[in-house]
Amino acid sequence: MAILITGGSGYIGSHTAVELIQAGYEVIIVDNLSNSKPEVCNRIKEITGIKPKFYELNLLNEAGLNQLFDNEVIESVIHFAGYKAVGESVDKPLAYYENNVTSTINLCKVMQAHQVNKLIFSSSATVYGQDGISPLVETLPLSATNPYGNSKVIIENILKDLSASNPKWQITSLRYFNPIGAHQSGLIGEEPSGIPNNLLPFITQVAIGKMVKLAVFGNDYDTPDGTGVRDYIHVLDLAKGHIAALNQLEEQKGYDVFNLGTGKGCSVLDIISTFELVNQVSVPYMVVERRPGDIAACYADTHKAEQVLGWQALYTLEDMCRDSWNWQKKNPDGY
Ligand code: NAD
Ligand code: UDP
Repeated sequence: MAILITGGSGYIGSHTAVELIQAGYEVIIVDNLSNSKPEVCNRIKEITGIKPKFYELNLLNEAGLNQLFDNEVIESVIHFAGYKAVGESVDKPLAYYENNVTSTINLCKVMQAHQVNKLIFSSSATVYGQDGISPLVETLPLSATNPYGNSKVIIENILKDLSASNPKWQITSLRYFNPIGAHQSGLIGEEPSGIPNNLLPFITQVAIGKMVKLAVFGNDYDTPDGTGVRDYIHVLDLAKGHIAALNQLEEQKGYDVFNLGTGKGCSVLDIISTFELVNQVSVPYMVVERRPGDIAACYADTHKAEQVLGWQALYTLEDMCRDSWNWQKKNPDGY
C-alpha cells in the first residue's frame, strides 16, 4: 500500500517524500512538472536509495487520475499540488481557482470512487487573512485577501463538507507558516522560477551575487525592530509534521486542521543577521516602502499540533539559514 504525493517533485513534496521513504513508506509521486523538474526523483534516490514511482500527470485530467488509481494500491494521499504565487494569483484568478480548487475536487472524486479515504491537504497560514492577532490559533475565522488565499479557504471548506457527508472520510488540513531551508545533503531544495517573491530565496540569490541588494519591505511596522515578523519553519520539520498527521489519521474521525509552525516570530532583520553570521557571507539590503498586502506579524499557536499530533518543530533559525545557503551554493542554477 502506497502513499500518493501530489505535487511530490515540488519543494515541500520532495522533502516529505524523503522523510516518508526513510520512515519505510512506499511513495508514489504525481506531478505535472509545471513548477518542478524530473531530476528531483533522481535526487530523492541519491538521498534515500529508492527512486519513487513517478506519474507525469495534471490533476485536472480526471480520466488520467482514475487510471492511476486503477493501477496502484493507494492507502492515503498527501495533496501538495497547486499554484502558490500570491501576486500571480491576483493577475490570473481563474487559473488559480481552476488549478487549485478543480484539481482538488477531481482528486476527491477519484479517491471516493476508489474508496481511498485518507487525505492530507497543504493549506496555509494565509487563511487567517489580515485581521488575526498572532499567535494564530486554529479556531479563528477564515478569510483571505487574494485569489491564492481564497483558493485555500474554499478547499478547506470543501474538505470539511466532504468529511461531514460520509464518516468514512479522514481528512486533515495542515496550515503551513513560512517554510524555508533544505535537506542537509544540498541535493533537494526550493527552486523559485524567475525573480523570487519570498524572503529566503531572495536572500540566497543576493548572497551568491545573482541579485545586487535585498529590498526590505518597510521598517515602520509595530514590531520590535519595525520589520515584518513571520514564523519560519525548516522544511524538514514540516515534512515530519506530515508523518505525524498520517499517523494521527488512523484514529481521526472526520475533518481536522493543524498549524505547522515553530510558534516563534522572526523579523526580516533577524533573518538577515542570522544568515550572515552562520554563513559568513554578506547580504546587502536597503529599506523600501511596505509591500502592499503585507501584515506586521504572523506566527503560529502550536499547542494543538503538539498535543494531538505529538509533533514539534526542532530545527533552529541557524539550521534553516545554513541549509538554505548550502542548497543555493551546491545548485547555483537550480536542478
Ligand atoms: P511547489 O510549486 O514547489 O510544488 C507544487 C508542485 O505541484 C509542483 O511540483 C508543480 O509542478 C505541481 N503541480 C501544480 N499544479 C499541478 C497540477 N494541476 N497537477 C499536477 N501537479 C501540479 O510548491 P511548494 O512550496 O512545495 O508548496 C506545496 C503546497 O504547499 C502548495 O499547495 C502550496 O500552496 C502550499 N504552501 C506552500 C507554502 C510555501 O511557502 N512554500 C506555504 C504555505 C502553503
Ligand atoms: N520581505 C522583504 N523583502 C523581500 C521579500 C520579503 O522584506 O524581498 C519581507 C516581507 O515583507 C515579510 C517577510 O519578508 O515581512 C516574509 O515575506 P515572504 O514573502 O517570504 O512571506 P509572506 O509575507 O508570504 O509570509
